[in-house]
Amino acid sequence: MASPARTAGGALLLDGVALRDLTVKRVADEVRALGATPTLATVLIGDDAPSQVYVRNKHRQAQLAGMNSRNETLPADVSQERAETLVRSLADDPTVTGILVQQPVPAHLDGETLLALIPPDKDVDGLTVASMGRLMRGEDSLVPCTPLGVLRLLEHYGANTAGARAVVVGRSSLVGMPLAVLLARKGTDATVTVAHSRTRDLAVVCREADILVSATGQGRSIGRDHVKPGAWVIDVGISRTSDGLVGDVDFDAVQSIAAAITPMPGGTGPMTVACLIENTLSAWRLQHSRR
Ligand code: NAP
Repeated sequence: MASPARTAGGALLLDGVALRDLTVKRVADEVRALGATPTLATVLIGDDAPSQVYVRNKHRQAQLAGMNSRNETLPADVSQERAETLVRSLADDPTVTGILVQQPVPAHLDGETLLALIPPDKDVDGLTVASMGRLMRGEDSLVPCTPLGVLRLLEHYGANTAGARAVVVGRSSLVGMPLAVLLARKGTDATVTVAHSRTRDLAVVCREADILVSATGQGRSIGRDHVKPGAWVIDVGISRTSDGLVGDVDFDAVQSIAAAITPMPGGTGPMTVACLIENTLSAWRLQHSRR
């Protein structure tokens, strides 16, 4: 990659598009060396337009990585039984490496039951109870893509995580909680605080962070008051406003005091897809090491 870009205020720009492209290229090299072609299967239920875009993008990156990709679509009014039959058939299909059920599923379906049908070694979204349990126990596991993408950005751009104070704002099982575990675990070694909507004096808590990650969906809620000079600031949030899509971080205000910052768009979003591709290769390896 060319030398990293900086913001107008001098912060290192944590470029998720550039790192996604590097990651997909590295995975493509590794896939070529495997002598086998992993297959990513997605299940898209209904006709939610953003979900269609996300799934198309995932397939495009899988193909760029030299993988097979297969999309199964089901109508919005599909029965639970039919959706379960499809996920079971993908789980049993030895040619399928990774399975992703695109969220959200229509309200009448039991999404948790669908998720539970995905075997942990094919769980490329890392969201099943089994994958989360493995992550907590420090076992080999497929890790949720958005938190893994945050970790990859920190690693690639050289954040010093060992002993650092990290604050994660948001405690969902999709982002905040698995990210807190990834940051705290051996090898990353940060000291982590998890903040949420009941946190008192959020700005004071955030100002303690050497690494501040916001994943709340509260547009531009993280401003200068929340950021310690020299902190690394990672924006996961996406919210729709009259100005279009915005992140949780007020980029213009923060970029002159942070040491490093993600753009939005172009930061954590592309890295989520990159980590799905990385996870599909990891799934192939997990399946073949356990045979
Ligand atoms: P979620 O399940 O709604 O969780 C949001 C979290 O933020 C909750 O823990 C909530 O606290 C906390 N929160 C809400 N308002 C807050 C406030 N004012 N102060 C402090 N904490 C507050 O959302 P999610 O699924 O984790 O997603 C979070 C955001 O990331 C969303 O904008 C989503 O669109 C985005 N996202 C982005 C990517 C990506 O690739 N960049 C991927 C996934 C999600 P409580 O627990 O107390 O309610």
